[in-house]
Amino acid sequence: MKEKMHLDYNYCAMLKNATCYNMGDDAKACDLSIHSIPKEYQSLDFRQNLASEWISENCKKCIDLENNNQKSQRYYLNSRFENELEDYIYFDIRFSSVCNLVCVGCSEQYSSSWAKLKGLSVRKKQNKDQAIENIVSEVKKTDKNILLYFAGGEPFLIKEHFHLIAKVREVLSNDQILKLQFLTNLTRLNDEVLDLAKSYEIILGISIDSWGEANQYLRYPCNNDEIINNIVNLHTLGIRRLYFQPTVSLLNIFHLREFLNLSKIIRDRLKEKVMYYPHLLVDPVELSIFNTPKNLRAFILEEITHLKNAFKNISEFKYFYDLLISIEANLAVNSSALELPEILKYIERKDEERNLKYEISLPELKKIIDKVYNE
Ligand code: SF4
Repeated sequence: MKEKMHLDYNYCAMLKNATCYNMGDDAKACDLSIHSIPKEYQSLDFRQNLASEWISENCKKCIDLENNNQKSQRYYLNSRFENELEDYIYFDIRFSSVCNLVCVGCSEQYSSSWAKLKGLSVRKKQNKDQAIENIVSEVKKTDKNILLYFAGGEPFLIKEHFHLIAKVREVLSNDQILKLQFLTNLTRLNDEVLDLAKSYEIILGISIDSWGEANQYLRYPCNNDEIINNIVNLHTLGIRRLYFQPTVSLLNIFHLREFLNLSKIIRDRLKEKVMYYPHLLVDPVELSIFNTPKNLRAFILEEITHLKNAFKNISEFKYFYDLLISIEANLAVNSSALELPEILKYIERKDEERNLKYEISLPELKKIIDKVYNE
């Protein structure tokens, strides 16, 4: 049974082996965010004994994805616990929305820069001192190894993350391993990160949505050269477990080929490959591939055929290739669709807010939209 645990509908490692500290109910990675589960369920001891049916009743986010034949957070986490984290306790930590970017698919809930741009107050943050205390107390109770996973906002800019690492380090025994994982936009490196890189095993997921001009538009205001320099710096300091995590949406589906250029740069600079672990954007609905109108879907399917040929024999694109096949299969049967003007209105509003023009930065998407209009 154990080797199939990531496929077991009623098992979730997030419930049994992990705790998720998110920013709040409307900005959570998992339905099991500590904010949204009853107090008596919050300790790991308690959850380890919880009946498995609880998952299918409460974990809507993962179950919905799986019902649409997509891989959920639960699926990925279960498979990691099977293969790598057997002796670990895992903490998923997203303490605040502090972020330096205004990515096109993001919003004021997740990025403080989006909140500032729209003149809104930055979202109320959770009680981080209490969260740190809880995590440290869970760590004290276990002799297992610890993995702290940080996302954001931009996790390198959230100073409490470094405070937590120092606190956890104080209570660990010499036999316990502490691994750190960050999902970062990697546009800023600071001394704290450089220090950690010298002392810990760090796993680094880099959010990146295309390359060249397209990436600088999608993840505004990032600078591609700075990202490469930061990757090279961290690699030189000994960080070897790097991966790219693109989010695939209508905005970049016609600009995924640019990743071939990025991979070439990485192979030249690092003398090794970096894998891609892409996932699909589901929210905002206007940018989801599965909400595109029928005549636009024909072009998406055509592009997927080109991408599959281009990515087929390149090992770092293995999971990209699998995702393309799954999009292809689902696009054919998925019938929900928005009208193109509604989708364009959303993109143009985002452009106005960020003072950018998708027509200039995403020329391939623009070409396809013009074709759909002229059909
Ligand atoms: S880096 Fe992340 S949190 Fe920041 S704007 Fe982009 S998607 Fe949002």
